[in-house]
Amino acid sequence: MDDLSLSCSRRQFTGESVYDLYGRPLRSLRLSVTDRCNLRCRYCMPEEDYVWLPREDVLSFEEMATLAGYFVDVGVDKVRLTGGEPLLRRDLPRLVRLLAQNRGITEIALTTNGVLLAEQAQALYDAGLHRVTVSLDTLKPDRFRRLTGRDEFDRVLEGIAAARTVGFPNLKLDTVMIRGFNDDELVPLIEFARHIGAEVRFIEYMDVGGANEWTMDKVLSCQVMLEQLSRRYGEIVAIAGRGAAPAQRYRLADGTTFGIIPSTTMPFCRQCDRSRVTADGMWYLCLYALEGIDLRGPLRQGAGPNHIRELIRAGWRSRRDRGAEMRKELERTGMRERELIGIERLREDPHLEMHARGG
Ligand code: SAM
Ligand code: SF4
Ligand code: SF4
Repeated sequence: MDDLSLSCSRRQFTGESVYDLYGRPLRSLRLSVTDRCNLRCRYCMPEEDYVWLPREDVLSFEEMATLAGYFVDVGVDKVRLTGGEPLLRRDLPRLVRLLAQNRGITEIALTTNGVLLAEQAQALYDAGLHRVTVSLDTLKPDRFRRLTGRDEFDRVLEGIAAARTVGFPNLKLDTVMIRGFNDDELVPLIEFARHIGAEVRFIEYMDVGGANEWTMDKVLSCQVMLEQLSRRYGEIVAIAGRGAAPAQRYRLADGTTFGIIPSTTMPFCRQCDRSRVTADGMWYLCLYALEGIDLRGPLRQGAGPNHIRELIRAGWRSRRDRGAEMRKELERTGMRERELIGIERLREDPHLEMHARGG
């Protein structure tokens, strides 16, 4: 175990870049540390029980840090820990410490539902976590219970407060906006975020398939969000320099900023520099990819660093994924709502679930 973490710390950052078939560099890695979750958000994981990844397949923290190190060697410099709910994985700060030893990683971030954050925020901060994003879809406790199937609203607020207290900079709140469900909370969420010194980002509801009953009419588009917000706030200015970030940020007249992630109506695949590794070491080049590349097999069979780095380089060089743009193109033929991944297919391959690949 120690050998692996040691080799991780000594690895030299090569400064290498690898580009896909559209010239997009590989820069950012979303590492899902578990497919389990303590909430059951209707838009993500609406059923109680799922086909879970076999426990023996789930990577140890040392294996995750080693794989992350290979990604860094070929150009990745940002790692985001996600899930399922990442804080369900016991002693997550230990993984953060392993990653923090790698000098090629300039940013270690976490996306969490916040339920367990209050008790772990300090340890995560001390371990070297740089940034936290908490998912918060509503400020109404009843609505939270209906959305998530759990009565955990207060603990999420405590988690957000703890993240502020320990001093995480640039705290973000991510809200999936669903028309007719929480679209009356655009303004309250902006005000709440401003009040606590965070930035809210509104995510368009994405058609990830499964049991979540997505339809286009539940999507509150970026355009409609901006129209609603400008009725309340007046002029809203887009902030330049988005780069490869999923969110377009905006500024209100008083300086308050917020973001919109328009994945459904204005996909940003053209700039996409991120890929995902599931908790059992399958590498997906796109959120919507149906096939992944197995990295756990080679890792556990003792393949050397060069072999795995070469697998990653070759995988990225052949990447032509632009899943969200292709989903959008289906709208023209009216096929978007019909061509969702069905529940049966998801049961056959649980990796295709949003909660397995980390959103
Ligand atoms: N459990 C953690 C959380 O909720 O923050 C991390 C994993 S979750 C899959 C990551 C992100 O994906 C969350 O912000 C969640 O809101 C988002 N997400 C899940 N399903 C979605 C959907 N159908 N459309 C848009 N965003 C979705
Ligand atoms: Fe909700 Fe995140 Fe859990 Fe999905 S993984 S059900 S978005 S808390
Ligand atoms: Fe990137 Fe795929 Fe998302 Fe497009 S759909 S932004 S290619 S992960």
